[in-house]
Amino acid sequence: MDLSFYNSLTRRVEPLRPLVPGTVRMYTCGPTVYNYAHIGNFRAYMFEDLLRRTLEYAGLAVTHVMNLTDVDDKTIRGSRAAGVPLRDYTATYKKAFFEDLDTLGIERATVYPAATDHVPEMIALIGKLFEKGYAYQAPDKSVYFSVAKDPDYGKLAHLDRSGMRASVRISNDEYAKDDVGDFALWKAWDEADGDVKWDSPWGPGRPGWHIECSAMSAKYLGETFDIHTGGIDNLFPHHENEIAQAECATGKPFVKLWMHCAHLRVDGEKMSKSAGNFYTLRDLLAKGYTGREIRYVLLGGHYRQPLNFAFDALAASRTALSRIDEFTVRMEALAATAGGPVGSPDGQAPSWPDKHLESFASALADDLNSPLAFAAVFALVNEGNRLAQAGSLDAAGAAAALAALAKMDAVLGVLARPAAAIPAEVQALLDERAAVRRAKNWAESDRLRDAIAALGWTVKDTKDGPRLSKS
Ligand SMILES: [Zn+2]
Repeated sequence: MDLSFYNSLTRRVEPLRPLVPGTVRMYTCGPTVYNYAHIGNFRAYMFEDLLRRTLEYAGLAVTHVMNLTDVDDKTIRGSRAAGVPLRDYTATYKKAFFEDLDTLGIERATVYPAATDHVPEMIALIGKLFEKGYAYQAPDKSVYFSVAKDPDYGKLAHLDRSGMRASVRISNDEYAKDDVGDFALWKAWDEADGDVKWDSPWGPGRPGWHIECSAMSAKYLGETFDIHTGGIDNLFPHHENEIAQAECATGKPFVKLWMHCAHLRVDGEKMSKSAGNFYTLRDLLAKGYTGREIRYVLLGGHYRQPLNFAFDALAASRTALSRIDEFTVRMEALAATAGGPVGSPDGQAPSWPDKHLESFASALADDLNSPLAFAAVFALVNEGNRLAQAGSLDAAGAAAALAALAKMDAVLGVLARPAAAIPAEVQALLDERAAVRRAKNWAESDRLRDAIAALGWTVKDTKDGPRLSKS
């Protein structure tokens, strides 16, 4: 499986050639833990989950690092407003972040380094930039990176350097593309920081946001690594600054492949609190949607296309997922018939699902084309249903369909039918009903079916036994 991805640095789709064959080292910019993450954030984490699972599907061993920004303007402001220490304040949102990842079925990274645990590494990196003449301390005591000293600055964002004014100094972590200028590596302590400060050769203060990712990626992945990702919002200034810091300090290329996912819009508009269309994951769960349904919507669009998140898309995901679940139930029943899968006469497993697996893999290998990958899933479902309808699918054929679906789900993480937790009370009635049916007491069987229905569950009798589903 040869993979190709769009590289934001070269603006071309390129074949992936890992630095160490068989392995991929990948860094993804993680959350700033000052609030609950919103669905725009999760679109980027979902794209990274799809990427990472696709790399693993292709047989690559992935080392995946995601940072946690637990000190910056926003976290300090939030902790001071709440009147709690920074560490306690961010701990709440770190915990919430991991709960949200689990809800969405996003696999854990190999390591989640937190910025506050790596300040010495950041000070060392700033020291290196100082030695090499790329950093200076300004009259405000903060340390800045001198953009004019780096002839490569702007190569990721494809900036026109002629418009840059080297005299401009920017101490905010986030700023607009028009504000090209020297950015803060170390921010001198001021009163707004409260008791948040570390000692450094340049006086007390705290690291800038950008230096955190350069220092922590080098620590866990080495000075040059394979893939760096993030939302398109991170491309400038954050990723541009990461490149400048890392490459000026080491003299080596920082990252081979830069991948960015496009924006998420809600009902066609930019998500914002003032527009009333701003949703955290928790907001959507409170409206009755499941993590699985939200995952399906977030995966459904190609990562380089803006994704329009709409409530009718969530409703459609419910329909699509129940089609897949019905297929799974049908194949499971068929696979369990006549003593289970026996194989085709020559002893080989039926190969009809293979072509769907092949189109699935080649869709993902071509710059993570998830819409085409889902089309392959539904082609498998449609063909399986057609064969079953025609009575030409035996147990082995059904088992092969289930195996193909499970392989696809190793990447998509959304196809497996969630096991409905059957309440003990319902299970007891179901067992009792099975007993009276064996005794051919049909009246009592019907009464028990109604009792189960009153608890919100439907029993359907099939030739393979009773099937229970939520009403
Ligand atoms: Zn970053």
